[in-house]
Amino acid sequence: MIFFQSLTKAELADLLLPLSRVKARAEDSQADLETKRIKQARYRAQQIFHWVYQRHVRVWDEMSDLSKDLRAWLNQNMEIFRLQESLSHQSLDGTHKFLWALPDQKTIESVIIPAALSDDQLEENRHVRGIESEPSPAREVTPSEFAGRPSDDAVASPQSWKRLTACISSQVGCAMACKFCLTGIQGLDRHLSVHEIVTQVWELRLRAPITNVVFMGMGEPLHNLKNVIKACQILLDQDGLGFSKRKVTVSTSGIVPAIYELGKNVDVSLAISLNASYDEQRSEIMPVNRKWPLAELMQACRDYPLGSHRRITFEYVLLKGINDTLEDAKRVARLLRNIPSKINLIPFNEHPGTEFKRVEDDTVRIFQKYLLDQGFTCTVRISRGRDILAACGQLRSVFGTARGTEKHRDAAYREVAPA
Ligand code: SAH
Ligand code: SF4
Repeated sequence: MIFFQSLTKAELADLLLPLSRVKARAEDSQADLETKRIKQARYRAQQIFHWVYQRHVRVWDEMSDLSKDLRAWLNQNMEIFRLQESLSHQSLDGTHKFLWALPDQKTIESVIIPAALSDDQLEENRHVRGIESEPSPAREVTPSEFAGRPSDDAVASPQSWKRLTACISSQVGCAMACKFCLTGIQGLDRHLSVHEIVTQVWELRLRAPITNVVFMGMGEPLHNLKNVIKACQILLDQDGLGFSKRKVTVSTSGIVPAIYELGKNVDVSLAISLNASYDEQRSEIMPVNRKWPLAELMQACRDYPLGSHRRITFEYVLLKGINDTLEDAKRVARLLRNIPSKINLIPFNEHPGTEFKRVEDDTVRIFQKYLLDQGFTCTVRISRGRDILAACGQLRSVFGTARGTEKHRDAAYREVAPA
């Protein structure tokens, strides 16, 4: 059995080619017939993509415009993958977190993060409290977009949100070992396959009209580059999940060669977890920096094909007494001076056992004000869903399975950075 969600449309068309039957006319050459067969296979792949990704039909026999033979073939050869929801929690602020059980009983998380309650609140956030709000106009989700989706498991009222962002995982655990990150402390268990990545978005779309996708859940997406690129292609396919390229963001701790590869292979927005302003400090909290220091990372950002994405997002987790001074803010400004950027400050979300502390709100304000005064776009992310442990890796560590060793980490570095 092949999982449907593991295939791009072109791969599905290739698989369907041997099933293509076309009527030959007397004047048709062999090449004409071959062209017709390829066209037919492509058309069928497109039909099937529509049924599954856009109409959310989960049974081959319900795809009424497919031939009986094709449905029989699909029944025999292909399975529509489902993620088993083992836990879900909705926070008072609308954040909805899901813990999925994979077929091998490993667990991963996805989160739906709503944004922008109303224009007034948006304004208030921007000017008074400095809470994250994108400068680009967010698209209103219309009730008709929501209609047609199963209402029994809908999680959010479409009228109240302008953006519903799906934050998805790319690995079970993570090998990058960032000191402040719970997922990093747990280590890498395994990469997610393409269908496991794509299906997170598909499952969430069954429940709410998702408008954006960010790879900011568990795992380092660029350490699972091949699968992430393919998953992005399916997310961006207008016959597939149909996201526009500006609405899909891949976030990385800074695996430099993979940033170049990503840019060459797929057109998505890029976010960098910067988190520090000079090498010694960054290497201390993010071991990945020892392999690819800031100068190389910044060069990769300058070289990234921005296209219509306009800007790279730089995330900066503020850790009390570590990276939160005005001097740090000045160095951040110097680092990002020549890069079209948007800075997102994230007050550290404390988790049990961590040595790090959350910064005071005033410290956040001073840091943000300096960057704003320097002409940067700088937002502060509110810790959404704190009451349901919505920070990276936290739901899983309480309810799911988690393990990690130094060995996994070393192996991962060798894999991404061959000597
Ligand atoms: N591995 C990728 C994407 C997942 S992490 C990356 O590092 O970019 C997503 C974001 O969560 C990163 O910016 C990371 O710095 C941040 N993060 C991790 N643990 C956190 C915590 N305890 N509090 C606040 N932000 C955290
Ligand atoms: Fe991995 Fe990102 Fe956490 Fe670092 S911050 S350990 S790269 S998930």
